[in-house]
Amino acid sequence: ISSCDSTANPQTGNRKKIGVLTSGGDSPGMNAAVRAVVRMSIARGCDAFAIYEGYDGLVRGGDLIKQLYWDDVRGWLSEGGTLIGTARCAAFRSHEGRLQAAKHLVQSGIDALIVCGGDGSLTGADLFRSEWPSLITELVNNGSLTKDQVEPHKFLTIAGMVGSIDNDMSATDVTIGAYSSLHRICEAVDSIGATAFSHSRAFIVEVMGRHCGWLALTAGISTGADFVFIPERPPVGSAGKTWEDDMCDSIQRRRHRGKRETIIIVAEGAIDAELEPITPGYIKELLVNRLSIDTRVTTLGHTQRGGVPCAFDRILATLQGVEAVEAVLSSTPDTPSPMIGMNENKVTRKALVDAVNQTKAVAEAIGRKDFRRAMELRNTEFEALYDAFKIITLKDYSTMGLPQEKRMRIAIIHIGAPSGGINAATRAAARYCLNRGHTPLAIHNGIPGLVRHESIRELHWLDVDGWTLRGGSEIGTNRDLPEIDYGMTAWLFQKHRIDALLIIGGFEAFTALSQFESHRYAYPAFRIPMVCLPATISNNVPGTEYSLGSDTCLNALVNYCDVIRQSASASRRRVFVVEVQGGNCGYVATLGGLSVGAVAVYTPEEGINLQMLQRDIDHLREGFVSDKGMNRAGKLILRNERASATYTTEVIASIIRDEAKDRFDSRTAVPGHAQQGGIPSPMDRVRATRLAVKSIQFLEEKYDLEFGKDESSAAVIGIRGSNILFTPVSRLMTLETDKTKRRPKDAWWGQFKGLVDILSGRVCAEFTD
Ligand code: ATP
Repeated sequence: ISSCDSTANPQTGNRKKIGVLTSGGDSPGMNAAVRAVVRMSIARGCDAFAIYEGYDGLVRGGDLIKQLYWDDVRGWLSEGGTLIGTARCAAFRSHEGRLQAAKHLVQSGIDALIVCGGDGSLTGADLFRSEWPSLITELVNNGSLTKDQVEPHKFLTIAGMVGSIDNDMSATDVTIGAYSSLHRICEAVDSIGATAFSHSRAFIVEVMGRHCGWLALTAGISTGADFVFIPERPPVGSAGKTWEDDMCDSIQRRRHRGKRETIIIVAEGAIDAELEPITPGYIKELLVNRLSIDTRVTTLGHTQRGGVPCAFDRILATLQGVEAVEAVLSSTPDTPSPMIGMNENKVTRKALVDAVNQTKAVAEAIGRKDFRRAMELRNTEFEALYDAFKIITLKDYSTMGLPQEKRMRIAIIHIGAPSGGINAATRAAARYCLNRGHTPLAIHNGIPGLVRHESIRELHWLDVDGWTLRGGSEIGTNRDLPEIDYGMTAWLFQKHRIDALLIIGGFEAFTALSQFESHRYAYPAFRIPMVCLPATISNNVPGTEYSLGSDTCLNALVNYCDVIRQSASASRRRVFVVEVQGGNCGYVATLGGLSVGAVAVYTPEEGINLQMLQRDIDHLREGFVSDKGMNRAGKLILRNERASATYTTEVIASIIRDEAKDRFDSRTAVPGHAQQGGIPSPMDRVRATRLAVKSIQFLEEKYDLEFGKDESSAAVIGIRGSNILFTPVSRLMTLETDKTKRRPKDAWWGQFKGLVDILSGRVCAEFTD
């Protein structure tokens, strides 16, 4: 038990009691959310209660409402499903059920309720809160509770977190569990793709999503599927044809061009424009009867719900759990119940009622056949994703072609180490270019490939087929910068009539862009629009909070650490010091630490000193003493590879071993290049597609400018807070870059380091405010 949990709530003098429940369908990450709520509540000087079996636990009370302590949630980060159970509770929909629920809450002394569930669960929570004053009056009037009992509970505070694999809640970009579910789907479809190719078959894969097509759409983007069918955007036929005709024609064309496999993803709730279901069986009949293609249907079913949460869901659930506790602590009787959401990279609080109403409005719009409105109501990126899917999947997507004078020859180059998603980005960029009438050119093997071997060629539609799920770099990459030969680079740009440039890579790519920009004065060939799409596992590119590949890396690290932790916990008394990549940037170590529940994280930004080691060894010792070998006590410390020249991973492990005096043991573990990941994660694939399309759109936008003068035409695309922004490289280099350490000056993720400390129990939240 952490030393934090004996602290009283300084605001009231009483210990606030916060209850948490999971409701509706289970989703991976719910346990991480409960863990964060429990630990943050305790760290904030409150008592934490779990309400088991969703609203059923509230209605039935008794043993189903139980206080949880610090150690009770140990190891929950990596568990799928929900360990406190969930249910669909008909009784809670009735007044009598909610009356019982109110009685049990007051009897348990719970002041605030955090609900993790879908829109139904959150609707129930808000209704419960609005009825609360009348429910407790009724309970006093009918003699179930006394006035004294209800006096401290005049108001109920509620916060909602959205746990749902469907990602069907408006007002948040993503819900807890959605990306883990997408991982399951992509694993399955990636495997199916191989067999489809081998036998030249078609596969129709049905995925979950009764009212929301997010899973089907993002799975389609991530796997390079041929078609997706979603409820929000029924298919329509082109002039004089049905959608069935169009689909069959298109499949036939693709097969004539040499494509062997066909993958079609269908959401459970897919419908046509008349609201009639489009079933996998119906599509199969079309393919068999009209095209004589050997076609199979695969229904993924509940495998999509299960399994270990991916790194993102652990982080999302943890951040949201922490935010939910903060929200209930700062709530007043007049504050609308908040729903904790996520917009791009920012945890947000929105009015729960508005979010629920907006979500319901989607279903209503579909019911009215107002599909345009349904798309708008989802979230801003949903429609953009849908458009991106179409334009990179359907060759000759006729409406997209640009007039001749706007068409460009756009070069794509990879600079720096490979990372997950760069091939998906290249594919998306190339196909977008082709549909717009541009000529995409691949520069092979970076700048040296260009200046030494003139390795540059046009990319065609089928060249990039299947690249979405490939790791490494299909066009080859290199770390060398334009400075190796500015003159030759410029001459070759001129020779190949390059009108615009997309650079994909990490800090080197960023530096290359800066070199091009700063040499425009001398080389007219560089006076073209240029954009850098950050892609590096280290996530150390200025101008963005996210780089392609960083999610793949975190997943590889999390999988590795889960295995290591198992070994550590089997022996009950072992600490693993895990050496993490990231260069001079502590992002991977910190976010990895948050995802695996590390006891400590060492970053290059903070360095390591003796006091830190002493502090952490004391903390470990306390933990092992209080645990008495009864819990799964495997502990991990994550040390960035460059956190200190003196305190190497080996040295730290040796110091811990010496200081532990046989009470516990330590080992080192170095995942090394395995952190670059094999197959890119779905998030990296989806974001690669979105960001690549946006990058080319940026180049189109800047094509008309007078480049010699306009610094904005050489920019880095980045996710910053809740926005996607293009920032001029000159500004980034001057104001936001630590050139010696090769990282942004402002480590935006530094705030999470404090959370690792709080959630590991070493630091109390109150003392860090
Ligand atoms: P999922 O997205 O997985 O379906 P959900 O939260 O939307 O999750 P629901 O079955 O709609 O799932 O709701 C879960 C529970 O929330 C219900 O069984 C019920 O107990 C409660 N609930 C839902 N809607 C209401 C409501 N309008 N009033 C009171 N309680 C409700």
